[in-house]
Amino acid sequence: MKRAILVMAVFVLAGASRAWAADGDEKQTKAPPTAVLVIHGGAGPPPRAKLTAAQEKRYRAVLEEALQKGYDVLQKEKGTSVDAVEAAIRVMEDSPLFNAGKGAVFTHEGRNELDAAIMDGKGRRAGAVAGVTCIKNPITAARAVMEDGKHVLLVGDGADRFAIRKGVKEVSPVYFWTQERWQELLDAIAEEKAKPRGRLRSSPRHFGTVGAAALDRHGNLAAGTSTGGLTNKRHGRVGDSPIIGAGTYADNATCAVSATGHGETFIRRCVAYDIAARIKYQGATVAQAAGDVIKALPEDSGGVIALDAKGNFATPFNTEGMFRGYITRDGRKYVEIYRSQK
Ligand code: ASP
Repeated sequence: MKRAILVMAVFVLAGASRAWAADGDEKQTKAPPTAVLVIHGGAGPPPRAKLTAAQEKRYRAVLEEALQKGYDVLQKEKGTSVDAVEAAIRVMEDSPLFNAGKGAVFTHEGRNELDAAIMDGKGRRAGAVAGVTCIKNPITAARAVMEDGKHVLLVGDGADRFAIRKGVKEVSPVYFWTQERWQELLDAIAEEKAKPRGRLRSSPRHFGTVGAAALDRHGNLAAGTSTGGLTNKRHGRVGDSPIIGAGTYADNATCAVSATGHGETFIRRCVAYDIAARIKYQGATVAQAAGDVIKALPEDSGGVIALDAKGNFATPFNTEGMFRGYITRDGRKYVEIYRSQK
């Protein structure tokens, strides 16, 4: 009897992870698991053949740490979904592996201009910053804008100064520099000279923005996104991440969304709000809504994470892969990179 139960449990667990591993693909046969925290580290990771086992291990370790930090917050009686989103994103911002905080991509002029947003699904409070240059954790600056409550989006010098005044940690702009991202800028400039009409890239075939969507014990959702934008972007360019309704959105009645990909496409299509609107007006599930919106995007545009107030979630993308992970109510962590695992 015990053995039969064990065999059944293994079967159910294997089914759950298989169903999720297939996420981003057309077919999903098994009922997917539910989550309290879903994260992404950007759509379009390095081509599978190029990612070494050692690199993959490093990415997975950061994603797992982010899940754990967010989960620890949610375990506390007073831990909110907003706290969890901020905690998870800060881990990824501090890692040079992702295009957010340390390791952000460079503008054409060789500077880092960072964007971030956070939104509370309870009451739809929101805060965002764009083009910050000396704030270690832009997601915390975005939160400061939200908590202040007067405005939703601050940009450039005004955003830097506001965050510093609110006590958010300031760093020298050189803090963000990494050799890898610098080389990507040099390559992008060389490529632009050879082929001036190409689409801006976040790095060679890779968007490394980070994001999180969380559900706390009071049933409240929150979402957040943080990014360096696109490699070789113009000074002053703002992507979708800090635009509420494009790259970030949360509303308890529908879902929490964080996007990654070609920002201009996500802004034009109001991707995050389009997903919420399908749930609100069509009665779509989070998986249908997110899946259909991503399916309609031009190939290789990116992806989203979307979570509803029951813990149902989806992580569709139309790139080769998307760094992503989730954690269940009982603390089981799952991390995936490509469409289906090796
Ligand atoms: N969506 C971001 C932007 O366009 C880039 C990314 O997802 O990596 O700014």
